Amino acid sequence: MSRVGIFGGTFDPVHVGHVAVAAWVRAALDLDRVELVVANQPWQKLERPVLSAAQDRLSMVEAAVDGIEGVVASSAEIDRGGLTYTVDTLEGYRAADPGGSLFLILGSDAAAGLETWHRYEEIAEMAEVVVVDRAGALGHRPPMAHRVVECPLVDLSSTRVREWAEAGRPLDGLVPPAALAYCRRKRLYG
Ligand code: ATP
Repeated sequence: MSRVGIFGGTFDPVHVGHVAVAAWVRAALDLDRVELVVANQPWQKLERPVLSAAQDRLSMVEAAVDGIEGVVASSAEIDRGGLTYTVDTLEGYRAADPGGSLFLILGSDAAAGLETWHRYEEIAEMAEVVVVDRAGALGHRPPMAHRVVECPLVDLSSTRVREWAEAGRPLDGLVPPAALAYCRRKRLYG
């Protein structure tokens, strides 16, 4: 019976905080793998006009996790297309492996808003909710049953990475090297 962690995000761009969470949760919960599921069009971020192309965000995640045992990129939400709802993603994983166990991994900022997500009760039925603390949202918890996994705090967000990129600051050490190389090659984020 497979044990799979689903770590969804916009990854615009992926940063080292994302990668550390995936690896640490996988180890803590003895998961077969953690999938970084790249959102196609996240409903929570509809008001944000500029989002890097889904394919570029996916390529950056693929590059970032290459060589990390048990951590992979998933194009499931991009392949499905349209607005991205986590409940649909979990249904897809359940249909593909009905006997497996799913773990939905959320930073504490995202977890605190889980109740507002589309069909959130079903989300909690289909997957075990796993929360990791995030700088700026310490101790934020969802109201439903969940477990907390301790990870090193990485005080980083994609928003700040984009801001620093636009300001010409170095991103080395913040974005995994192979993802950063892709980013530079494609001239993303200014
Ligand atoms: P943005 O700043 O563009 O909103 P983000 O850095 O929050 O991006 P997302 O791709 O939106 O990144 O996040 C995906 C998931 O990763 C969410 O569950 C979020 O809480 C979690 N996450 C992001 N950054 C961190 C971090 N530094 N530490 C722990 N969890 C994080």
